Amino acid sequence: MHRASLTVLLGLITLAQTGFTLTLQENSMNEWRKLTPKEEQVIVQKGTEAPFTGRFDKFKTEGLYTCRRCGAALYRSEDKFDSGCGWPSFDAEIPGAVKRLKDPDGQRIEIECVHCSAHLGHVFTGEKMTARNTRHCVNSISMDFVPQADIAKQFERAIFAGGCFWGVEYYLQKAPGVLRTTVGYTGGKTVKPTYQQVCAHGSGHAEAVEVVYDPRRTSFEKIARLFFETHDPTELNRQGPDVGDQYRSEIFYLTPEQKEISKKLIKALKNKGWAVVTRLTPAVAFWPGEEYHRDYYLRNGKTPYCHRPVPRFEKGENP
Ligand SMILES: [Zn+2]
Repeated sequence: MHRASLTVLLGLITLAQTGFTLTLQENSMNEWRKLTPKEEQVIVQKGTEAPFTGRFDKFKTEGLYTCRRCGAALYRSEDKFDSGCGWPSFDAEIPGAVKRLKDPDGQRIEIECVHCSAHLGHVFTGEKMTARNTRHCVNSISMDFVPQADIAKQFERAIFAGGCFWGVEYYLQKAPGVLRTTVGYTGGKTVKPTYQQVCAHGSGHAEAVEVVYDPRRTSFEKIARLFFETHDPTELNRQGPDVGDQYRSEIFYLTPEQKEISKKLIKALKNKGWAVVTRLTPAVAFWPGEEYHRDYYLRNGKTPYCHRPVPRFEKGENP
């Protein structure tokens, strides 16, 4: 399928499923899967499946590889490569998702899921197989797979508007536990708005960022705090040099809990003297931006001109 139409389709799927994904997420987050004896032999007893037998060895679909036991996101399909060793190989993990331990054999480095300590396999460096010079050699049986189209269903979402979406995305996409960010438009009336329509002010949309995160590793509150500290929530309908209602500060909450947390953070900031104008609005359709807007700062190696971090909460503070 053409990438642009896939994106629109994904947006619609995400919207359609917003209502019933929460129960699923809560259940899957707190419960560990019951393992079969074969899975237990590798995941708990630290065994190794026979090479060339695992279901992910030659698997090439786009998506995320997750922990078979707890569901935490571990690897991205774009970091998978064919090493020819007979086990799925990745040259990078999702930051912070995998821990390294000295193997009892004293030579190799064992890798485990950070969240539940499931045994994954071993990591090797210095083999020069890819530019990153690292090979995570992972048992297929230690993993599950979430196709690209199901990522927003399996994990949690949040939607923030705070000025130019590239600036907001730049900081949120680097946060621990964030799996994916998408720039786009929300909060307006036009169906499938274009950048030109949003800039012309007629559509009512705000430039926004949809964040998909792993609730095992971060929380809405942590991401919302980062949002408040990386844009200026006291500016009305502008953000630095960018002026217009499409640059407004707004949280489009997806659950009553997100709304309550946002209210609590705004109250805490107001108590500190920040005249916060951030709006709280129930989430409506999120329209992914045109292809040329994706990962702008990452692709260009630049830092945002319109957003700069300002500490507004004290570290470890619980407002
Ligand atoms: Zn796990």
